[in-house]
Parts: sequence; structure tokens; C-alpha cells
Amino acid sequence: MTTVLVTGGAGYIGSHTCKVLKAAGYVPVTYDNLVTGWRDAVKFGPFEEGDLLDRARLDEVFAAYSPAAVMHFAALSQVGESMVNPGAYWRNNVVGSLTLIEAAAAAGCQNFVFSSTCATYGDQDGVVLDEDSVQMPINAYGASKRAIEDMLENFGASHGLRSVIFRYFNVAGADPEAEIGEFHQPETHLIPLMLDAITGKRDALTIYGSDYDTPDGTCIRDYVHVMDLVEAHVQGLKWLESGKESRVFNLGTGTGFSVREVVAQSSAVTNADVPVIEGNRRPGDATRLVSGSRRATEELGWTPDRSTLPHMIADAWRWHQNGHYDK
Ligand code: UDP
Repeated sequence: MTTVLVTGGAGYIGSHTCKVLKAAGYVPVTYDNLVTGWRDAVKFGPFEEGDLLDRARLDEVFAAYSPAAVMHFAALSQVGESMVNPGAYWRNNVVGSLTLIEAAAAAGCQNFVFSSTCATYGDQDGVVLDEDSVQMPINAYGASKRAIEDMLENFGASHGLRSVIFRYFNVAGADPEAEIGEFHQPETHLIPLMLDAITGKRDALTIYGSDYDTPDGTCIRDYVHVMDLVEAHVQGLKWLESGKESRVFNLGTGTGFSVREVVAQSSAVTNADVPVIEGNRRPGDATRLVSGSRRATEELGWTPDRSTLPHMIADAWRWHQNGHYDK
């Protein structure tokens, strides 16, 4: 069986990836420092605790498993935090990825699937954001991911490393079997915060800005079901296994929803009111981020058919009512 090193495998997207990798016949080895990830989320393959900045530990893990590919999710990923503490983003994400890429190159591991973001595009309202769009990040999170994309390209030229880079739009939902799900501490993402407001764990959801230039004044995002998203990663891995060249793919549906629309859908799915407060804009937020590309559908055969708001919210809700992890 083929072994894949999954950095960040104890996190939200990484753990769902491990589940589908195992189902597809791979052995996912999780490498995670458990700073934001959860030991309890590692259920589908071996666990190796370690930090991206620890080259000796990475070398040890590459030597122990000889992975055929790396799937790199481990990162700090909060836009707001990245505006306040950019150094952490440059150190963990950029220097950490450099350490990982050098360790992979030294171990002769040439296939790399990388978790990037639509935040690399910045705030280009009115522009169709496809993979050829110029990247002009407006926050340190997006800037750190763009730098890693450049790094992968450079190592491709120098070391023959091949990469599939996925630029995610907004990931939502959970494993429909609710074995794993989204659980951040502290939570900063819209849908889990909204579910907390519904259950009374939080007093209300604060809408970050209602004066944007959108039909209802709130930010617009393109939401993708986590299970659809991670399926694309398996397809990306097969792309590399079949010897194809490095490629960048957006992962979004092409349809955007405002914060208020997500609130209304959550209320409908859960049959409950969402208490809402109208707050200030969050620094670093773009007005509208909607994927303009069909490349993943056309070239990978990706079909994001679970990525409707009711489906994503229903799966998130199922997990949210019972699911949590402990350190
Ligand atoms: N958002 C909000 N209130 C919150 C959290 C998020 O209004 O408590 C908005 C945020 O401004 C953005 C959207 O919801 O427009 C999605 O934010 P999230 O943090 O979930 O993901 P991001 O877009 O930052 O990756």
C-alpha cells in the first residue's frame, strides 16, 4: 500500500483527508504538532507528533515511512490573527514549509499536494478569480500561502518536485458519519460560530460588517463541502501518480453566498433562530471571494455535488451536536 505523509492530519481538513485516503487504499501518516490539531482526530493511520520547523524529526519520519507523496495541510490559517501576528504566519507557514520541502527533497519524495487558499487573490471585487488571476493578498495568511506556492515552483525547477496546489475557497460541513468534524479552539469560522449561537453556547453571532458593496451589505464567500474538497486531494494525488505535470486548481463551486444568506440557511436547516449582532468589519476580509474556474471539474473530474448550503450545514450540525475533541 502507498504511504502518504499528511502534515496537519490532526486538523479539520487533514483528518477528513486521512479518512478518504484510507478508504481509497492509502496509508495516511499524520505529522502534526497538536498546537491547533487534535490527537483524537487521528483515526485512520499512524500518528507522528512533530513540528514543521523540526528538520531532524522530519528526516526521521521520512526515513521511517518512505512516503510516496506529501499532503501539506499544517498551517496557521486565520485571516484575523494573521493581521495581528504576521511573524507567526511567516515562521510557521513559510519557514515551516521550506523545512518540510527541503526534507522531502532530501528524502527523494517528489510528489507534493499543497493546501493553498483563495486569500492569495486578495480583494479583487468584480474580477473572475480563476487560476490565472493575479495574486495580490491583503493579509499575512494569504501572503504566506502565496510564498509557499512560489517555493514549490522553484523546487520544481531545481529538484524535479511536482506539485498539485489547491486554492480553497471556504470549507464547511463535516464527515456525514460524524466520526470527525470541525473543531477549533478558539473557534473563528462562520458556520460553527453560528451553530454555537443556536445552541446557546454563545450569546450571538457577530456579523463582521454590513456596509460592504454587496446586495445585503455582508461579505460573500464560496462554500465547499469538506468531503468534496478532500476528494479533490485524492484526485490530485492520482494526477501526480500518473506522471502529470504540476498544476494549480481552485476548489470552489462558482456560487457565492452572503453572511446573511448563510445565517438564513442555518436557521432553516436547524429550525432555530440565529441570534445576530451587527459588528464592525474584520481587518483583512475581502468583499467577495468566488471561484471563477471549472478547471478542477474539467481536468480532475471533480464533482462537488455535496457543496450546497443545506447539505453542508446539515452535516456540520450533525457533528456539532455531539462532536468535540479533547487534548
Ligand atoms: N464572519 C462573520 N462573523 C464571524 C465569523 C465570520 O461575519 O463570527 C464572516 C467573515 O467576515 C467572512 C465569512 O463570515 O465574510 C467567512 O469567514 P470565516 O472566518 O468562516 O472564513 P474566511 O473567509 O476568513 O476563510
